[in-house]
Amino acid sequence: MKIAKFGGSSLADAFQIKKVCDIVLADPDRRIIVVSAPGKRDKEDIKVTDLLIAVANAALAGDSYEDELNRVIERYRGICDELDIEGILPDIVETLKAAASSDTSDSNRYIDTVKAMGEDCCARLVAAYLTSIGHPAKYCNPKECGLFLEHDAAGKARILGESYDNLENLKYSKEICIFPGFYGYGKDGRVITFSRGGSDITGSILAGAVSADIYENWTDVDNVFAVNPNIVKNPFPIYEITYDEMRELAYAGFSVLHEEALYPVYVRGIPVHIRNTNNPSAKGTKIVSERTHYDSLVTGIAGEQGFLTITVTKYLMNHEVGFISQLLTILAEEGVPVEHIPSGIDSVTIIARKKYFTPEKEDIVINRFRNEARAESVKVDRDLAIVMIVGQAMEKSVGIMARAASALSAAGINLRIVNQGASEISMMFGVSEEYTDYAVRVLYKELFRY
Ligand code: ASP
Repeated sequence: MKIAKFGGSSLADAFQIKKVCDIVLADPDRRIIVVSAPGKRDKEDIKVTDLLIAVANAALAGDSYEDELNRVIERYRGICDELDIEGILPDIVETLKAAASSDTSDSNRYIDTVKAMGEDCCARLVAAYLTSIGHPAKYCNPKECGLFLEHDAAGKARILGESYDNLENLKYSKEICIFPGFYGYGKDGRVITFSRGGSDITGSILAGAVSADIYENWTDVDNVFAVNPNIVKNPFPIYEITYDEMRELAYAGFSVLHEEALYPVYVRGIPVHIRNTNNPSAKGTKIVSERTHYDSLVTGIAGEQGFLTITVTKYLMNHEVGFISQLLTILAEEGVPVEHIPSGIDSVTIIARKKYFTPEKEDIVINRFRNEARAESVKVDRDLAIVMIVGQAMEKSVGIMARAASALSAAGINLRIVNQGASEISMMFGVSEEYTDYAVRVLYKELFRY
């Protein structure tokens, strides 16, 4: 059994939806389909989810939302007309109107209710179209199917364990199941959405629940590349990558799937196959637990800005029991996630992301480090980018670090931080932000010239 999830660009209009249905019908194992909301038809277009967010914001501001809502309705009307399934339109219009006119007293709950309807209506529409062309399909409501979520302490949507058992029943359906991505329900009946791009998570959860053989994630590129094609022209394609390699690259901004989407398939060892709706014959990229082969020592290179260092100094730090743990406790209490902690003899450097370490937080943390942990000096440097070289095949191979470092040095790029864990799957360099793309280019040129 395969789970096939289609992203917004694959469902942007009637023409794209026909392609999706051709793909679904081309393989009898594709019985459970997860859909996003219709995305952009061209660069200037607006995603249905963004239109719905505008509806919700207008309502919460006490303004009329009729214009925004009509734009959403017109998107669906256009698709239904072209697919000759006008019969489903009243259902869609009613669903959208009911959400928009629902209770606004809890603003987060209201926004979730409205913005989830992009996926919900898309699932109704695709099910109606498949049925109209002679292939019985049903819209699956996440509440009826038992996809239950809750919010964690940070407000992020988290799946309740029982959902997996509930959703397993989907595999016995005689009709093709069309499941809306991006949201589920709380036990109190409220709609809860994942963060943006969260239909990837729904697909992964369903793949886990029915123990699928593969999770197909259909998008608009032939495959993933070894490096961002906006930085290097025509980079090498990646046909196979492990979950671990993918996580390491995602850490430095390599975004392919939603960050949280890999977990449900990762723990069950279900491979993910990224494929192109516009070119189904392309090989795609497989994310697997074990590679079958290696085309190169390095799988990918990525760079991301937005980091900072907090360097804390204390004489005889290495003799003091509990000093680093005190610093980490303070950061945890202030809600600052810590990324890395390279340390020296009398100093420790904490790497964090700027978005979590605002200037106001900086003042509080510095004071607490000095007063509570008795730090002698605390220095914050807000100019750090992380560049990662990732490859499972680097393990036990000699000389990659030397080549990378000498290429960067020849290019005049100062290495502020160097880190390689014992797993040897990745190397991390900290450089000034202005060198991010340049460093990626230099490393690609050096390491992909075998
Ligand atoms: N429609 C939602 C978004 O635009 C979720 C998704 O497409 O995965 O973020």
